[in-house]
Amino acid sequence: MSHPCACNVVHERKRIVLTGGPGAGKTAVLELVNQFVCQHVMVLPEAASTLFRGGFPRGPSLGQRTATQRAIFHVQRELEASADAADHAAIVLCDRGTVDGSAYWPGPDTLWDQIGTPRAEELTRYDVVIHLRTPDAGAYNHQNPLRTESAAEAARIDERIAQGWSGHPKVIMIHSYADFFQKAHAALDAIYDQLPWCCRKPR
Ligand SMILES: [Zn+2]
Ligand SMILES: [Zn+2]
Repeated sequence: MSHPCACNVVHERKRIVLTGGPGAGKTAVLELVNQFVCQHVMVLPEAASTLFRGGFPRGPSLGQRTATQRAIFHVQRELEASADAADHAAIVLCDRGTVDGSAYWPGPDTLWDQIGTPRAEELTRYDVVIHLRTPDAGAYNHQNPLRTESAAEAARIDERIAQGWSGHPKVIMIHSYADFFQKAHAALDAIYDQLPWCCRKPR
């Protein structure tokens, strides 16, 4: 659990995205985050997992896939709106952002054509983007039952995520190490660096 913090500064809120391709370790990192942050960091659930756990169908047809991505986009928007309305958050840490949907968009046009908002405008929603890269095929983790992508497809999606966020002024890439602990450490450091000074506590 997050530790209690006596800070009563009114923080300027930052919205940070933690993203990554399939198998990058995003969920594990988010579990660790809760152990060192204070109550002024609000971690949002992943829109896609929230929808799928709630029974949103994952159909294979083009129309089903585009419906899924539109739903994820709108749920993400409203998760962020809800966090903006919450009291006292200094950091809203998003488990993926609206731009990630472009990596999963099956075509024929783009997610942005369908949603009616330009990608450049979506990039401005986020102050910092932390991208956990998907590891090479050999180190790929198949444990998550909500993931169905093969390793090669996972690498392609990871690259498309990078393309989606390209042009954002602050993207921090977290590369894979042989030892996942090192990667998690790098990711935690990147998140810790975003905390306001008043809310930092030695780890
Ligand atoms: Zn705090
Ligand atoms: Zn503070």
